[in-house]
Amino acid sequence: MSATTSRTIDHRIAGRSVPATSGRTAPVWDPATGEEQARVGLASAADVDAAVRAATAAFERWSEVSLTRRARIMFRFRDLVDEHLDELARVVASEHGKVVEDAKGEIIRGLEVVELACGLPHLLKGEFSDQVSGGVDALAFRQPLGVCAGITPFNFPVMVPMWMHPMAIATGNTFVLKPSERDPSASNLVAELYAEAGLPEGVFNVVHGDREAVDALLAHPDVAAVSFVGSTPVARYVHRTASEHGKRVQALGGAKNHAVVLPDADLGFAAAQLTAAGYGSAGQRCMAISVVVAVGEVADPLVERLSARAREVRVGPGLDPESEMGPVVTPEARDRIRASIATGERAGATPVVDGRELEVDGGGFFVGPTLFDHVTPDMEIYRDEIFGPVLGVVRVGSLDEAIALINRNRFANGAAIFTGSGEAARTFQRRVEVGMVGVNVPIPVPMAFHSFGGWKDSLFGDHHIHGPEGIRFSTRAKAVTVRWPERHDDGAGGGMSFPTAS
Ligand code: NAD
Repeated sequence: MSATTSRTIDHRIAGRSVPATSGRTAPVWDPATGEEQARVGLASAADVDAAVRAATAAFERWSEVSLTRRARIMFRFRDLVDEHLDELARVVASEHGKVVEDAKGEIIRGLEVVELACGLPHLLKGEFSDQVSGGVDALAFRQPLGVCAGITPFNFPVMVPMWMHPMAIATGNTFVLKPSERDPSASNLVAELYAEAGLPEGVFNVVHGDREAVDALLAHPDVAAVSFVGSTPVARYVHRTASEHGKRVQALGGAKNHAVVLPDADLGFAAAQLTAAGYGSAGQRCMAISVVVAVGEVADPLVERLSARAREVRVGPGLDPESEMGPVVTPEARDRIRASIATGERAGATPVVDGRELEVDGGGFFVGPTLFDHVTPDMEIYRDEIFGPVLGVVRVGSLDEAIALINRNRFANGAAIFTGSGEAARTFQRRVEVGMVGVNVPIPVPMAFHSFGGWKDSLFGDHHIHGPEGIRFSTRAKAVTVRWPERHDDGAGGGMSFPTAS
């Protein structure tokens, strides 16, 4: 850690940079060197209240702005994010640790949600029924909720917030984002780009912080809806607490994503895809593959190929164009992952490649790609989310056994199958109990115009995120029944019974 850190990262409220009033700060590391590069101010409840008040004041005007004007601001924002792609990616790489090309990938996937939001005038068209009764028409449309809050994890500091705020803002809400305190700077840059795009002050605000800020958002009477993405224990807590406070809430949690490899799969292709899906972003993706389920005789040749590939991954600083995999995010994450590897070894799994042995120059938070064979479902390394570059191979005898294994797991975000058989793939996609399925695709993150979300302990709430479900989450329905009667000065036309169509 460096002895002096001069830079402090502030909130962005109503278009201005606002320091935290709590006096509390947290370190923002450079994971590639192990140096502290800045401190981020942690919000007090008063800071959160200031952001929510700014968003509440802005809602009155923003919700009256025409759809076409809202869409035009989104178009400008889209272009600005695209123009600043390199700058944003470098900010992400320097605080998160992932390699720059990977950071660009997440920004582009986030941008796709902004592009969906540009088309919202079309998607928000309501319903109309002519002549539902004599002289009566019916219409239904959706209106914004008010102030929406987003609470997001460290692992996708641009994409995950973009799953939320473009949908909320384009549908007429205002937004308070509480990003991860581990990599806060990208959110401030996004706030600047929104302002440059012409978004009025107070429509998009950023408060930095930890549990204190989250609790203040969950209890604030003027927050209408909460979108959360992060680990399962916190997702469960956020869902329960926000629900108790009467808010609409969607809370996406952790994952343990399995990839089944059948004997008829293209092994070279599967091994390459699984290496990228297991070790990309140092395994810190909610859709990373962490369990490979090897069916029958595929196990030995598959483990051989996976181990060869794991050893070839080029690990180094995220800002070095030669690196394929960067460090993990904090010293605590590095120590937790190393401890998990030790636990797996003690439990009897075979460490074919041990990432603890990797040495990279400097003091960064590096753990190398790790491959375990002979993992069994009772082991901690199978049950728990490690969230690091650790792949475990579980050997089973059949596709049925593989599906049963996945369906017993409490996490249910994504699952993939590698096979040459359409029938096996169809059986898998119908019977596996997860929210997102890949067929010869290891990381099946849905495109922005579909919705993203898991089942069971991977999502609490009724709605998946972005796409059609994101629009429904950000709006509420109104149904209107309309009659323009001819004048009945004699009072005719009333009636005391419950109205039915005539
Ligand atoms: P995290 O749960 O520690 O933090 C997420 C957010 O919650 C952060 O903003 C953090 O400040 C806040 N927070 C942390 N502890 C809290 C507490 N006790 N009370 C209230 N708020 C708290 O998650 P993380 O380590 O930043 O991110 C990694 C996790 O996120 C992994 O479990 C990963 O699977 C999950 N994730 C899931 C998805 C998905 O789509 N399901 C996507 C990305 C990440």
